[in-house]
Amino acid sequence: MELYKEHQLKVYNSLTNKKENFEPLTEGYIGMYVCGPTVYSNVHLGNVRSFMSFDMIFRYFKHLGYKVRYVRNITDAGHLENDADVGEDRIAKKARLEQIEPMEVVQQYTVDFHNVLQQFNFLPPSIEPTATGHIVEQIEIIKTILDEGLAYEVNGSVYFDVLKYNEKEHYGVLSGRNIEDAIHNTRVLDGQSEKRNPQDFALWKKAQPEHIMRWPSPWSDGFPGWHLECTAMSTKYLGEQFDIHGGGMDLKFPHHECEIAQAQASNKKSPVRYWMHGNMLTLNGKKMAKSTGNNILPSEIISGNNDILSKPFPATVARFFMLQAHYRSILDFSNDALEAAEKGYNRLMNAINDLDALNAAPTSSIDIKKWKSTCYDAMNDDFNTPILIAHLFEGVKYINQLKESKASLTDADLQELKEIFNVFTFDVLGLENVSIQDTTDKLSGVVDMLIGMRNDARANKDWALSDKIRDELLAIGIQLKDGKEGTTFSVQ
Ligand SMILES: [Zn+2]
Repeated sequence: MELYKEHQLKVYNSLTNKKENFEPLTEGYIGMYVCGPTVYSNVHLGNVRSFMSFDMIFRYFKHLGYKVRYVRNITDAGHLENDADVGEDRIAKKARLEQIEPMEVVQQYTVDFHNVLQQFNFLPPSIEPTATGHIVEQIEIIKTILDEGLAYEVNGSVYFDVLKYNEKEHYGVLSGRNIEDAIHNTRVLDGQSEKRNPQDFALWKKAQPEHIMRWPSPWSDGFPGWHLECTAMSTKYLGEQFDIHGGGMDLKFPHHECEIAQAQASNKKSPVRYWMHGNMLTLNGKKMAKSTGNNILPSEIISGNNDILSKPFPATVARFFMLQAHYRSILDFSNDALEAAEKGYNRLMNAINDLDALNAAPTSSIDIKKWKSTCYDAMNDDFNTPILIAHLFEGVKYINQLKESKASLTDADLQELKEIFNVFTFDVLGLENVSIQDTTDKLSGVVDMLIGMRNDARANKDWALSDKIRDELLAIGIQLKDGKEGTTFSVQ
């Protein structure tokens, strides 16, 4: 039987602001869409945290036996500078600054994004569609919304008519805003704008002559508005209604609000059953921003190449650090917090490394089944990874008691203990055991040192010592090979 049938998962739905029992539209299957990166600069650490939350959620669904189609897009068509739909396309701007083609920018930062995610041990999504690959679908949606009378064309651009839409639907259903307040709080249009109301947003923008990224459409040579691509790609791959839509809290308004309006206008139904939003990452108590220098790149954690850090940290330690907080809580990144996480991580991995040396006993003095269910309970309660990790440390205590013969487990219980550690630490949290890698690195260092000593012995014509080093290494299964490039070794 699939595991999900034994577990009632609760998910916090941003649409209702409540934890709800999770029931997928089709039993056994889950459709999940997460807004991907805009590839005009290096992915920042806050984004990595947000994507990591959904990676963990994807992993847990898979563990429970669901067949998941996880779609995470790449925004490569260029956003406008701000939500007011004026200003420059950010990808085009970057291209002009660096004197390269827009698609060169896209390629460079897409590769960077994938590298970072690989370093942090992300699972690839099922489909990773690009906005530029779905221009036709976006144009079709605009046509439908125009036919419904919920959008209008001005000078080759098309805008969504928020006030008209709001007559029958609620624009603000996700963010809890209401249009009257929005109207009250926005300044009057300056007459320069083509929009009927400041709340309206672009579905299609006519390209200025200098704009390089452009596509033909019934209205003008131009490019789609910011919000439309996610509606086009989620509908195409997951259907008009799907289970989960995720993203960072900052995308709730206007991006996700506009996605709901577009989908509702064109498909006549609310597109998403459970909206999920991850919270932000601060740095030393302050919002991260490149402009203030209060910023750190994911790669700098691994290289240690940032003044904030005392040393380099393995990516998996940073992953452990992030998952120690609930995905809906603000998390503050600092060197001290990362050092503390590293100690915890090492304690966890040391205990896991000890698991194989434990011996079974005729009886169990620990209730492993109960412990196992507390681990599941934590994850079933809106993916509460900090509570799960607390239970894993309870398990670390068990391992230490077993090592010191202060507790006992039967063979079956011991297997279950190992299994649960493997499932939650590696499959669900996606951590990697770098302590073993660390030992390998240290071994290489020791052998290289002995090779150096042997070279010194040979230079001094001390053949007895050089042979002794070679033979004794061979006796423990390490073979030295002398070549033109120097001496190398292999482990037999
Ligand atoms: Zn999106």
